[in-house]
Amino acid sequence: MAASAVAEEFERLYGAAPEGVWAAPGRVNLIGEHTDYNDGFVMPLALPHRTLAAVSRRTDGVLRVHSADIPGGIVQLDAAGEFGGPRSAGGWAAYPAGVVWALRAAGHAVTGADLHLTSTVPTGAGLSSSASLEVVTALALDDLFGLGLSATELAVLSQRAENEFVGVPCGVMDQMASACCAEGHALYLDTRDLAQRQVPFDLAAQGLGLLVVDTRVKHELGDGAYAERRAGCEAGARALGVPALRDVAYDGLPAALDRLAALGESATVRAYTRHVVTENARVERVIGLLDAGDVRAVGPVLTEGHASLRDDLRVSCAELDLVVTSATAAGALGARMTGGGFGGSAIVLVEAETADAVAKSVTEAFAAAGYAAPRVFPAIPSRGAHRVTH
Ligand code: ADP
Ligand code: MG
Repeated sequence: MAASAVAEEFERLYGAAPEGVWAAPGRVNLIGEHTDYNDGFVMPLALPHRTLAAVSRRTDGVLRVHSADIPGGIVQLDAAGEFGGPRSAGGWAAYPAGVVWALRAAGHAVTGADLHLTSTVPTGAGLSSSASLEVVTALALDDLFGLGLSATELAVLSQRAENEFVGVPCGVMDQMASACCAEGHALYLDTRDLAQRQVPFDLAAQGLGLLVVDTRVKHELGDGAYAERRAGCEAGARALGVPALRDVAYDGLPAALDRLAALGESATVRAYTRHVVTENARVERVIGLLDAGDVRAVGPVLTEGHASLRDDLRVSCAELDLVVTSATAAGALGARMTGGGFGGSAIVLVEAETADAVAKSVTEAFAAAGYAAPRVFPAIPSRGAHRVTH
């Protein structure tokens, strides 16, 4: 949807034109999965799918929000309770309200706003519709109230909104990707200190393509399982006497696993540890390959990463496994689940001329297995959050 249409709808809802329209994208993660809560490395890229928000300031402390994508009218949160405080705003409005709460908690004078948004980021598909919603709100308010916050600061405040206000214990990758990614690049991010580097990722120039396969399933298991994986990783780090599993070097992995066994840590904790340490090493390998211009060689590293997520961290599911096996059997260079797991999306690296055939093979494999048809589209590395109108 065009920014002008979002602005017009804002005017229809609130009776005056918005002060501006802002955009923030969804993302896929190329490599570095379940590493962001272990102080590790990630490598997301922003999608062309994005949330557009038309916003105006208010001075009376009130926040009004409306989504074109959710039935039910304007949601109003009033000033009396500082937008209610954590968890008091139910439903989707908790995401923008949480951002206002986080900005105010950080001492920024945000005196209220009217907001209307619409999004092309598929919801609940592991493509970070929630982060795009938070980041677009944060950027609009930063701009309108002249807060002067950096993209990284906006991402961290958005994560805080999701963790403490909405109540989802996510890492910082999604918000950083939505806020900081650059067109034609992947974002190499150290989640410990948020050091970042834009890595050129021009697939088309290499005759390659990256497909996103949204399986359209989300298994219930996901929520509790995420907390359990986090706890298991933290247990591994504690037993090894390091602040986070990121501090276990790849070369030191065999010794670390022996030590965990000697300390009586479970096979589960050892497997989680192995996933995180090998996954961080895979990010480093992918960086080396991209810097060397050897993009094709990234494929097998993706497939290896999938095996680790499936067998060691055990966060895959039958549908995601089927994407990987059917895509690689059809000649893809590599494939893996992306995002938290238990459904959501996978990515597939392909030679550009085989993209359609690979997509067809995956779709046929889903039909043969009796699964609903997946949604397949190209991941074109796109721009992070920005102002659309002036
Ligand atoms: P995702 O992987 O897409 O981020 P989440 O479960 O983290 O999945 O976030 C999805 C939630 O974000 C939705 O349930 C809804 O509350 C909110 N959301 C996402 N997109 C929109 C939208 N366009 N309008 C309103 N709320 C949205
Ligand atoms: Mg999310």
